[in-house]
Amino acid sequence: MSLVEALAEILSSNQVDVDSATLTRYSYDASECPAAKPDLVVLPVTVQDVVSVVRLANRFRVPITPVVSGTNGWGLHIPLRRGIVMDLSRMKKVVEINEEMRYMVVEPGTTVQTVQGVLAQRGLYTSIPKSCPAQASMLANLLIQGMGASPLRFGPQSDMINGLEAVLGGGEVVRCGSCGCSPYWFARTPLPELVGLFSGWYGSTGIVTKISFPIYKKPAYIEVVCLGIERPFGKDLGSLISSLVDLDVAEDISCYTPGVKFVGDDVKRSNSEIGLYLYATVSGVSQILIKAKRRALVDLADKSSVGGRPVRIMSLSKEDRSKYLKLPSLIDFDVERFGGSTNPCCHIPFSKWATTMTQVQRACHSLGRKPEFRLEAFSGSHYGSMMTYLRFNKDDKKDVETIRRLVRRVVEIYVDNGGLVWKAPPWAWKIQMNKSSAGFTKLLTKVKKTLDPNGIMSPSRIIG
Ligand SMILES: Cc1cc2nc3c(=O)[nH]c(=O)nc-3n(C[C@H](O)[C@H](O)[C@H](O)COP(=O)(O)OP(=O)(O)OC[C@H]3O[C@@H](n4cnc5c(N)ncnc54)[C@H](O)[C@@H]3O)c2cc1C
Repeated sequence: MSLVEALAEILSSNQVDVDSATLTRYSYDASECPAAKPDLVVLPVTVQDVVSVVRLANRFRVPITPVVSGTNGWGLHIPLRRGIVMDLSRMKKVVEINEEMRYMVVEPGTTVQTVQGVLAQRGLYTSIPKSCPAQASMLANLLIQGMGASPLRFGPQSDMINGLEAVLGGGEVVRCGSCGCSPYWFARTPLPELVGLFSGWYGSTGIVTKISFPIYKKPAYIEVVCLGIERPFGKDLGSLISSLVDLDVAEDISCYTPGVKFVGDDVKRSNSEIGLYLYATVSGVSQILIKAKRRALVDLADKSSVGGRPVRIMSLSKEDRSKYLKLPSLIDFDVERFGGSTNPCCHIPFSKWATTMTQVQRACHSLGRKPEFRLEAFSGSHYGSMMTYLRFNKDDKKDVETIRRLVRRVVEIYVDNGGLVWKAPPWAWKIQMNKSSAGFTKLLTKVKKTLDPNGIMSPSRIIG
């Protein structure tokens, strides 16, 4: 019996797709990563469907790559060794909203738009990205250690996971966090930290079928302060960010070079000298509190300089201000519209931001490119994410080759500066792992082998 025949025995006909045009849609993204077409796509509706397909894939030794909306970029959902793509978008139940204990449980196909919508109706919210595609999966965003709208408050999105349910590579169903030993999905401590067996593994240890995260009351007031930095590549950029974080009044500190879409048009027009715009948001229960927090940020900025130039307090137009405060605002996404764009990224201490950007910019200029940067401060040890945005022409082979060389150089610069590549394709992960201790690599291999004994889950990603 062939795999397709065996699948026909466990799923209905509309849950298996081998149409060539469909398979092509799952084979690529907007980045420079080479396309790879799966052999077939399955669309489970229940956890039992997932279990049955995983067991079958073990029998046939066929790789499985889970995907929801495939909006991530840098090849994250591309089935590197073909086989089965498991599209989980039909598993989209909101399993529970527990207002009393302030958590929510969803299936993989529940979109960020659904999460935002159902919570808004109750005057609640949770951390979702600033402007990602509306159809993006909340669960995938948490698992990939994504970047929400206020990472300085919430940390990488995976910090928010209270618990999860997963189908392991061998087909067993497990629950981690409080849901593993209590009726409630409210926490992952004080227990052995098993959520980490799935967060940051990009589907290579199992398929997560439910996830829980905290929900919050909407703050009564929110305000934004915009600072302008003329020479962002000065080494004291890191000290400025650290001082702002130490003030402990902002819940988001994000920096963008002028070409990044978050920078308002009016503020850009008002001063063409600015190389980096820093947006800090503050929130609170009263206007008095907001004013005091704003004052503290402005006072500090007033006394600061970067690269020998004073930090400027930018005045935002009504429109720019309200646009920024409307974040998160989700977008309509069509991969073709974003065709030819890539954003190699890493997590790296603030103290390394300026040096790293200088080196990346030099590498880009040497190949005739102008990079744009987005930097976000995370809660924790004064570190954050750095994204380098690059556009190119996907139809021009020479251009694609140039970008591949450049992205490789950017990754080397990140790693040489002590950064950790994020959402990276296998070759970039390998560059990172060349710096890892033997014990770390061995432990990863052991975990992978234990959870996925036949190596069928997203092979080539992380290990194997
Ligand atoms: C314009 C734009 C802006 C964006 N902005 C942001 C941003 O600010 N912050 C941010 O974090 N992201 C951002 N993204 C990236 C992306 O949209 C989000 O991270 C999104 O939540 C990922 O969801 P997805 O459905 O596209 O995941 P997919 O791309 O389908 O999957 C992501 C990864 O998770 C794995 N996976 C999927 N489902 C499962 C599962 N059930 N179990 C185990 N593994 C699984 C996949 O194999 C893949 O490796 C942006 C993307 C675009 C195009």
